Order: sequence, then C-alpha cells, then structure tokens
Amino acid sequence: MRYSWRIARLFKIDIYVDSSWFIIFILFTWAISTTYYPQRFADWPPLLNWSLGVLTSLLLFASVLFHELAHSLVARKQGEEVKRITLFILGGVAQISGEPKEPLREFTMALAGPLASFVLAGFYGILSFLLHSASRPLSAAAIYLAIINVALGVFNLLPGFPMDGGRVLRSLIWKFTGDLRKATRIASRVGQVFAFFFIVLGVLQVLRGIFSGFWLIFIGWFLHSASVRGYTQVLFESVLKGKTAEDLMTRDFETVSGSLSVQELVDEHILMKRERVFLVKEEAAISGIVCLEDVKAVPREKRAESQVRDIMTPREKFEAVGPRADGNEVLKSLAGREVHQVPVIQDDQVLGIICRTDLLRTLKLMNELGE
Ligand SMILES: [Zn+2]
Repeated sequence: MRYSWRIARLFKIDIYVDSSWFIIFILFTWAISTTYYPQRFADWPPLLNWSLGVLTSLLLFASVLFHELAHSLVARKQGEEVKRITLFILGGVAQISGEPKEPLREFTMALAGPLASFVLAGFYGILSFLLHSASRPLSAAAIYLAIINVALGVFNLLPGFPMDGGRVLRSLIWKFTGDLRKATRIASRVGQVFAFFFIVLGVLQVLRGIFSGFWLIFIGWFLHSASVRGYTQVLFESVLKGKTAEDLMTRDFETVSGSLSVQELVDEHILMKRERVFLVKEEAAISGIVCLEDVKAVPREKRAESQVRDIMTPREKFEAVGPRADGNEVLKSLAGREVHQVPVIQDDQVLGIICRTDLLRTLKLMNELGE
C-alpha cells in the first residue's frame, strides 16, 4: 500500500510527497551527517553536522522540485496540463498529460529540467563564495548543493529514455525521421543499455562489499521498466490510432443464465472453459456481468444455494463502450480501472467483449505484422 501527501501548491501545481520519499530523506541525511561533513570538518560538533545534514537534505529535495517545476512550467506554456509533481524515493516526477505533440516541444521541455539544475548550481556556487567569510558551515552546505545540482543535471542528461537526455535524443531522431515510434524505440533501447550498465556496476560494487551498489541496481531496474513501459505506451497509441472498439473486440464470448447456481458456474463454466468473465443473460437480454472475483467473494459452502444473479454486477452498474469508441480511450479505461474487460454494447445488444489480455495480444500481433 502506498500513500502520498500533498505538501504544497506552487504555480497552481499540487506537490505531493510519496511515503517512499522518507526512506531516501532519512538515508541521505544520515549519510551526509555522518560521513560528508565530519570527514571534511573534523572539529565540528555532531549537532552541527546533523543540523547541516537535515538542512542540506531538505534543500536537495527542493532542488529536485525546482528541476521538476522547470519541466512542468515549460510543458504548461506549451499547452499541456500538469497534474502534479511527486517526490519519491528516486527523486521527483512531474505528471504531465499526454505525450508531446511535436519534436521541438519535447526537446525544450526535456532540456528545461537539467538547465534549471545547472542554473541552481551556479546560484549555490555564488552563495557559497559569498558566505565563505560569514559562515563556514553554511558555505560548506552551499558548495555541496552546487555540486549535487551539477550531478543531478548531468545524470538526467544521460541519453536513455525516459530520462531527460533520452527525451532529447528521441526528439532529435523524431525530428529527422518524422517517426515517433521509431524514435522512441531507439531512445528506449539506449535507456535499457544504461539500465543494464547500472545494474552490472551495482552488482560489481556489492560483490566488492560496497553496499551502495544496491542503489545502482535499484535505479537500473527502475530505468529498465520505465523505458520499456514508455515505449510500449507509444507503440500502443500508434497501433490503436484510428481503431475502434469494434475492431478490437472478440465476438465469441460466453453467456450464462442468471438462475445458475454459483457452484454450477464454477464447475461447468469457469473450470471447464477456463474463462474468468461471463455475461449474464436473462430472457434474451444481458442483465449483468460476473467474474472470478465475484465468485471468490462467496464462501464455498454458500455456492450451491447462491445464484449468479445475486453476485453479478448488474447491467446498470458496469461500464460499457459503444462500437465506435476510440481504441486509445478503451485502453485507457481498461488501464485506469480495476476491471479487466469491457463489453461493447449498442442499442442494448452486446456485440462483443474487449478483455485486457486479448487486447494486448492483438496489439502485439498488429505490431509484428506492421499493421
Ligand atoms: Zn528532468
């Protein structure tokens, strides 16, 4: 279970902190308070090291927020909707609606974050210089923040999608080929190479007894899944473009009678046909939909006496789409809700069902055939 809290609202954007963020905040504060500051300033009391550690840590995450705000504000200027910015264990993420509409927009949007980090690094560098004679501890914290902002900018510019540098790379390939799908595929491959590199490096570190290697493994794993997911999304969107629910649905679906007992449904339909979902028919009309989850909610000893119509989701409660519904909208509605299937209905007639697994299989096939 994951929780997140809204901590602020800046430029009309909600700022959230995910529960996983506290882990990195504590780890980071601990690391700089017990190693970085004591190593450089041995004569400082522990309380000072820890106070500076907390301050540095908070300002580091403010820097991450600054980076994400830069992306978000540029995106909004380009007409995109920015839903929220969330700080989590691996930094920050800005939730921006939709994929960029053209290469130049993505290019500027991606570059805005690292540029903001470099500007902030310059600011902290100057601040450190100015504070040098006034307060050595604060000057030390400022120089640390300058370095870390440079690192943040450089790391994000690595050309693996979906990191900022990967987005820059994608926009360039997109610009020169005019093919978003191809551009995403290449940038995503590069992202996977970097992910692999991080994981190998992490494993080597761990083998040598450097436990921060686990961190690299974690980052690599995250990057890998994000780059695969990013490509899959673009792929689906391009394959589904112009397709309607009618093109995607399966026409042979099972119907069962509402008067069937739950036990019969299990024995004769679920186990025999290995299906997970059935439409329920009563007097020639579809009255509801029943799925494996509904059956599981009925205690075993009650299954013989309960009927399918008692446990089904009635017709007026489940969502359906029309045959002309846009393919991308159908995919989004399947991904956004808990359901795994959606019936296609016209004039109260069920024409077919779109199941998530079927849809993914169809998409894969279409992609392989170049449809
Ligand atoms: Zn960024």
